[in-house]
Amino acid sequence: MTTHPIDRIAALPAYVPGKPAKVKLASNENPFPPLPSVIKAIAVAAGEINRYPDTASLELRDRVAGKYRVLPEQVAIGAGSLTIGEQILQAFTHEGDEIVYGWRSFEAYPLVSAVVGVRAIQVPLREHAYDLDAMLAAITDRTRVVIVCNPNNPTGTAVQRDQLVAFLDAVPQDVLVIIDEAYGEYIDDPQIASGVDLITGRQNACLLKTFSKAYGLAALRIGYVISENLDIAASVGKTAMPFSVSTIAQAAAIASLDAENELRDRVELTTSERARLTTELRALGWTVPDSHANFVWIDAGSDTPELVRRLGAVGISGRAFGEEGIRVTVGTPDENDLFLSAVRG
Ligand SMILES: *Cc1c(COP(=O)(O)O)cnc(C)c1O
Repeated sequence: MTTHPIDRIAALPAYVPGKPAKVKLASNENPFPPLPSVIKAIAVAAGEINRYPDTASLELRDRVAGKYRVLPEQVAIGAGSLTIGEQILQAFTHEGDEIVYGWRSFEAYPLVSAVVGVRAIQVPLREHAYDLDAMLAAITDRTRVVIVCNPNNPTGTAVQRDQLVAFLDAVPQDVLVIIDEAYGEYIDDPQIASGVDLITGRQNACLLKTFSKAYGLAALRIGYVISENLDIAASVGKTAMPFSVSTIAQAAAIASLDAENELRDRVELTTSERARLTTELRALGWTVPDSHANFVWIDAGSDTPELVRRLGAVGISGRAFGEEGIRVTVGTPDENDLFLSAVRG
């Protein structure tokens, strides 16, 4: 006899490290290095790491609340938005309860569902996009949480504002809707639903945001949640591993909020490059849905392995899913040129 992990943990796949690539377009990272002002704030914070961080990230929490014009109590900072999502599941579900989300969507959703012990109900996408009617139909007495990944990872699609509002209006009051807006900053179409007014006046909805993508702080692990239901931020505070958001991450996030104009220029470069990639890939005959994020999805089907091979031959990594398709992050203009020439073969 020896000790064993419980079945649902033992059944999870082990982490497989990504192959080193010359041009890494596999993880939807911001391709630009941190701003000098952010590096400076990190350097200053580095001088204080003998002390534990402010566990509630109060200064940053106030800044985020000010940015969205909500009360500080409506906001919780956490060690990445994925961690916050898991904490919300811990706090709002019993083992065996159901969680509904679209599929294919963010790869981490099934993992955190299994870790927490909720049953994942995966509702197939329709034309690469979240099918909100089908999701509504999938809600049962046992559903406690619904996730809407908007824009969706890996397809880049996003739901229209009126559709999402109608969905939020229709979801039962005792089911919590998590709107995962990891890529919200890359939305430039006013028809697309995003932002804090989606959750205004709702007790059963929250907005999950991250500093990992548009703000370029992926390695620092920092994100936040906003909700009018004060139990959400409070529960994230209670379930957090104490001190998991470092002083350095908090300082970098504050410096990034101070530099939003500079960061917005980078986001605009990414969205214009996204349009260029989409146009060129379609001209080459590939099926590419409209993306509202910092990546494009190539619905390559059985050609996916060949595409992976062409990219790999010049040292580019994307994120491929079997014979379904491949997600490629929008890189710098030079990286995107290299990517397009590799696709041409
Ligand atoms: C990248 C990503 C996140 C961000 O996760 P962090 O933990 O904040 O780095 C969250 N949701 C989706 C859909 C993502 O793609």
